[in-house]
Amino acid sequence: MTLPDQQPTDLETTMSDVPHYKMLIGGEWVDSAERYEIRSPATDELVATVAKAGVTDVDAAVAAAKASFEAGEWRRTSPEDRANVIATVAGRLYERMEELAVLQTRENGATIRVTGALHLGLSVMQLQYLVEVAKSYQYEVAGPDVTAPLPFSGIVRREPVGVVAAIVPWNIPLLTLVWKVGPALAAGCSVVMKPDEHAPLVCMELAKEFEAAGLPKGVLNALVGDGEPVGAHLAGHPDVRKVAFTGSTEVGKAILRQSADTVKRVTLELGGKGPNIVLEDADLSVAVDGALYAAMANNGEACEAGTRLLVQSSIAQEFTVRLVERARTLTLGDPLDPGTDVGPVITKEAETRILGFLERAKAEGAVAVVGGGRPQGAQYETGNWIEPTVFTNVTNDMDIARCEVFGPVLSVLTFDSVDEAIKIANDTDYGLSAGVWSQDEEKAIDVARQLEAGMVYVNDWHVINPNYPFGGFKQSGLGREGGPHSIDEYTESKYIAIDRAGPIENRPFALVIGTPPPSAPVQAGA
Ligand code: NAD
Repeated sequence: MTLPDQQPTDLETTMSDVPHYKMLIGGEWVDSAERYEIRSPATDELVATVAKAGVTDVDAAVAAAKASFEAGEWRRTSPEDRANVIATVAGRLYERMEELAVLQTRENGATIRVTGALHLGLSVMQLQYLVEVAKSYQYEVAGPDVTAPLPFSGIVRREPVGVVAAIVPWNIPLLTLVWKVGPALAAGCSVVMKPDEHAPLVCMELAKEFEAAGLPKGVLNALVGDGEPVGAHLAGHPDVRKVAFTGSTEVGKAILRQSADTVKRVTLELGGKGPNIVLEDADLSVAVDGALYAAMANNGEACEAGTRLLVQSSIAQEFTVRLVERARTLTLGDPLDPGTDVGPVITKEAETRILGFLERAKAEGAVAVVGGGRPQGAQYETGNWIEPTVFTNVTNDMDIARCEVFGPVLSVLTFDSVDEAIKIANDTDYGLSAGVWSQDEEKAIDVARQLEAGMVYVNDWHVINPNYPFGGFKQSGLGREGGPHSIDEYTESKYIAIDRAGPIENRPFALVIGTPPPSAPVQAGA
């Protein structure tokens, strides 16, 4: 939503009932002529306004980032001191956890339990872990001294890539952002971050915290703009050396294509259609809740959700009865209420799109055994709502099993043998997450090894852990975030070779350019 042509004079007082967020460019908070209205997906209440960036703002932000990188103050700051700035920000997020969890819930509708534990809690843990990684990171390592065939030694350096564009979506904004900004800053890069235009507020709070923690001007720039043209302009900017993107597979492919012209480094975290396999020896007292948690957490708006539930035929009837009973107890409503399990979806457009999926699934023969539409009742008159929905009679060729629905919708499929389960699970263009439920851990791990996914959860789901890498196979992405190697994604490796062979006759040059002619004696006075 955009308010046209409002002058940026004294916005804080003219719209004093809600905060206004400006852009951070070159260390200054600057405003724009146009602004976004950020409204609660549950109540439509105005939460804040945000400066709406245009492509000229992107140019200014990239120029500021480039200038700060070339000035070199940040990259020459010791790794320890850079890590300490990140630690300060982690501490501030921790102190502000409750306040920011409420803000996150108000801007994107994720339930307060999820924004507290996942959005804020995991982001803080991620940054804290990164601090440890950054302090022990090997920015320069002396290689082995070699004596044969030549005496020489080498140094391997990891140098910051330069200006990084960090582009994130609205569904889990803070975590997807710290995964990028954290290691980029740890490495000594300069960054232009672009949160999504639907839910940018907590991300902008992160920018404020980095600024307050003492980052030099221009090292972190933050602006909010539409995907087209602003995100595309940023991703394609010739002075951006690396694009770190989380979002849809469609946009990820466009970024990858665009990056070819300037051979940019690219990390892509894209969509998913997670298969969740329940073997007949699973502990159903855990697996039933686990299946709903996999699909419905974050209102089903999670890239690594378990949206295809594959249940072994021998237990399918009992499992489905228990699943349906439990799904009917899920509370849909006010995401700020700690008793709520599922909140609203992000926009009216998302609601309409998901309702379209539900109708097509029914037309293709799937049966909505729970939910299946928009909820009725006064509390749902405003906001964007989809009933928590469970479909049975789903086959893997249906749209509902192949496309990312991105709402609280779970599809149940059945299989006879483990081999068949693996085949169905891998029959997708995506490869982000997968899961296996079994009381036989060895068997579950054996299945996990055969699944084409970046994360396979055994007897659980959403077990995202800062110590482990996150990312996808196939069309779910490129590269990994988090884990012990996250800084590698923001550095270039440089090998410095130091030859100590001495005089030319000790060198193998002659092998390639021939034997040098004997040098003529230098004449005195010549
Ligand atoms: P989206 O791709 O439309 O938007 C994501 C971000 O990209 C936003 O900031 C948007 O403004 C920007 N953008 C849009 N078009 C652009 C373009 N042409 N060039 C550059 N930037 C552009 O994604 P969405 O639909 O809003 O978000 C949901 C998607 O994100 C889902 O597909 C979900 O699976 C995915 N996601 C993936 C992960 C992961 O880690 N793999 C995590 C969260 C979300």
